[in-house]
Amino acid sequence: MEDKWHHLNVEAIEQRLNSKIESGLSQAEANERLTEHGRNELPEKKKESKIKKFLNHFNDVLIYILLGAAVITFLLGHYIDTSVILLVTIINAFIGYFQENQAEKALNGIKALLSLSANVRRDGVRSEVEAAEVVVGDVVILSAGDKVPADLRLIDAHNLRVEESALTGESTAVDKQTAALDEDTILNDRTNMAFSGTSVATGSGVGIVTAIGAATELGKINQAITEVEDLKTPLLRQIGAFGKTIALFVVGVAVVMYVFGYFVRDFPAGELLLSVIALAVAAIPEGLPAVLSIILAVGVQRMAKRKAIIRSLPSVETLGSVSVICSDKTGTLTKNEMTVTNLETTQSQYEVTGTGYAPKGEINQTNSKSETKVDDVLKQLLTCVHICNDANLRQDEAGHWMIDGDPTDGCFLTLVRKSDLNVPTYKVISKIPFDSDYKYMAVLAEIEQDHYLFVKGAPDRVFEMVQKNEAAGFDLDYWQQRMSLRAKEGERVIGAAYKKIGSAMDSIGHHDLEEGMEFLGIAGIIDPPREEAKQAVHTCTEAGIQVKMITGDHADTAKAIGKQLGIGDGEKALTGRELDKMSDEELEDAAESTHIFARTSPENKLRLVKALQKRGHICAMTGDGVNDAAALKRADIGVAMGIKGTEVTKDAAKMVLADDNFQTIVHAVEEGRRVYDNVKKTILFILPTNGAGGILIVASIFLGMTMPLTPVQILWVNMVVAITVSLGLAFEHLEKGAMNRPPRNPKDRLLSPYYLFRISFVSIMIGIGTLWMNSFMQKQGYSGSDLQTVILQMFVMGQLFYLFNCRSELGFAFNKDFFRNKAVFLVAGILIVLQLALTYIPFMNTVFQTTPLAFSQWTIPVLMGLFVFVVVEMEKSISRKVLKREVR
Ligand code: ADP
Ligand code: MG
Repeated sequence: MEDKWHHLNVEAIEQRLNSKIESGLSQAEANERLTEHGRNELPEKKKESKIKKFLNHFNDVLIYILLGAAVITFLLGHYIDTSVILLVTIINAFIGYFQENQAEKALNGIKALLSLSANVRRDGVRSEVEAAEVVVGDVVILSAGDKVPADLRLIDAHNLRVEESALTGESTAVDKQTAALDEDTILNDRTNMAFSGTSVATGSGVGIVTAIGAATELGKINQAITEVEDLKTPLLRQIGAFGKTIALFVVGVAVVMYVFGYFVRDFPAGELLLSVIALAVAAIPEGLPAVLSIILAVGVQRMAKRKAIIRSLPSVETLGSVSVICSDKTGTLTKNEMTVTNLETTQSQYEVTGTGYAPKGEINQTNSKSETKVDDVLKQLLTCVHICNDANLRQDEAGHWMIDGDPTDGCFLTLVRKSDLNVPTYKVISKIPFDSDYKYMAVLAEIEQDHYLFVKGAPDRVFEMVQKNEAAGFDLDYWQQRMSLRAKEGERVIGAAYKKIGSAMDSIGHHDLEEGMEFLGIAGIIDPPREEAKQAVHTCTEAGIQVKMITGDHADTAKAIGKQLGIGDGEKALTGRELDKMSDEELEDAAESTHIFARTSPENKLRLVKALQKRGHICAMTGDGVNDAAALKRADIGVAMGIKGTEVTKDAAKMVLADDNFQTIVHAVEEGRRVYDNVKKTILFILPTNGAGGILIVASIFLGMTMPLTPVQILWVNMVVAITVSLGLAFEHLEKGAMNRPPRNPKDRLLSPYYLFRISFVSIMIGIGTLWMNSFMQKQGYSGSDLQTVILQMFVMGQLFYLFNCRSELGFAFNKDFFRNKAVFLVAGILIVLQLALTYIPFMNTVFQTTPLAFSQWTIPVLMGLFVFVVVEMEKSISRKVLKREVR
């Protein structure tokens, strides 16, 4: 197919692509082209091979130690030990590989939820399709914040500027236009083309697809945008480093022990070597990093089920420490179901009946200020809001009325249909699309050969424009009062103005609105608050999280809605203009003490985030417009709207709300706290296994006792605990009271003094307890594999019961939620089955030197478990008092 398109005029392109700009392709034609030419996707970058991924799991200090141990046991002639150790390294690599795969799959599955979409014109109607399903010849509609889905030849552009750094590396946005260019124009200068992978910075436009997938300019330079997601979070890195320190420490201790055992205790060299190997094997928490990444991955999946899509793993941790949530109003705290309920023109006042987008209802005049022109002005106002409109009102198959596009636009289409005045036919010549930065939309239109400029937008902005036209005699005080009256009811207010243009113009800019504008009137729109948002705000207050509303809407509207939801006191609010005047220090104070920010610009949002962070806050910030990207990037948790958000904000965000709902942010924070708690519980649970194992060996070398367990047996304990019970805590539910405490200080260390105490305490209890039991039973006449089997079971039972202690950090183990986490019971069951297999299967007896136990012999291990459980519960209740921690 032809490679260059920029030198062709629109007709030639239509012909060559066999498409029509007015109607686009037919759906049938689009389907056909999709099957014929394939999806609009870039070929994926080559991934690491599976074998390499598997082998990566051998590249670990611990595995080196194990492999060293295998060599030594081989040289000593302990072939069974050698094979078990080797087998363990292989099993370990398999588990690691499997878990990594699961985590990756979870993340990829979630990414798939975020597939790009594109607006195309097919069969004459605008519809949203997956970007991957765009075909050559499709007519694509672009607006600010969109990612360009394919290479397009532009056929319509209004103040369209495109950011092309993905392609050219140039970060300033490029002005686009539609006229044909010289054939030899270089790529960077092809201003009538929009390229795949670039994004629309401002304005709007329409283009026809000339190339898709690998044939696009982006595809040609093979810059596949498949980002490699780092699976390591700060927490995992911290744990990884911690594990390495422990490993080095353990090896050091092992060397010391060897020297000590050899010279002081006169152990035979071979046996001693086996013991220190056992020490190394026992004391290093090899399973921990894998378990923790599973916990995070489970968290990400659960958040996705609750409609919060996490785009980067570290955010799961950060979410748990969020201390302030800055939220949009419209659509997030409110339903974004707009209905115009009242109108006031310069001549008369009206009430509008009916709710929702269905055009059922009437515009009833309530009060007239003059006898003449009443209908004329209303008609002009309706024409204005109809023309200044990017939405589309339609009925779906089931007969429900719905809109495509911005609800603030859509509700006016409904309004116009409720009226019996007919809006004249018109042709749009040029427009300035709505943007939160300047808060209005303007259109130059031709009606019956005359040219008109219409503007609809925030009343204050419209007032400014019409005030400049002194001839019109605009009464600012009166209208401000009228607007404020509506806003105080929580209504969103829109103003409208127009002017007739004498000479023909073919494009407009902001300066064209500076003179001669005539005021038409204002419209009040209700947008009810979401019911669930109120509860969510309350939850935040309980959890010590501040909620701030940051909106482009009027201060009175924001205060009224805020009051209904429990944000702010309904009295205090700051506007963007007031914020602009503040110094950074003043802004910090204001950001802390104010809860409602109105008439804000994206720039204000960025400054607010910075100010809050300066005050030590961990800040979640929502955004939807293209200009919000900077603030979202800066925030600790940038939150993008899945439905109304632009692709650019989704790209900049760490979390995307599938339902645009404020409550979902709070759910995600809740989930973040749960994940972090479970990480801590898991550490609290796993480390004593290693501590106790280490103590067991060090103490027996030190005291010159025979080793209670062989290295292979210790290896078994570590493995079964790591692959079974420690996973159970990943599914532990949020504890009662977890949303009643203030957010975690991110600077807090993972291992608090209490944690160190608990880990040492339990390690010593199980380690010394086992050791004592060992010598006690020796005196009773037990020996050899009989003894070792009982001791091994004791060790594992201690762990199993301790798991139930760890389910609540400080709370009583038998609480209401005892049976809620089924996973704990499942993994406990698996552990028991594995232990029975170890004891009763002859093959296992040979390999692990165990013997079948008589039923009565199980009492000792079970008693040990119970003992651990009761002592730790007692310790917890004492610690509760000492730490003055309230537990519900
Ligand atoms: P928010 O989304 O926080 O309510 P916006 O920046 O979208 O704030 O809107 C700010 C103001 O701009 C609104 O109060 C309204 O007066 C005006 N406005 C919003 N949407 C439109 C639109 N589509 N066309 C014209 N004016 C609008
Ligand atoms: Mg908005």
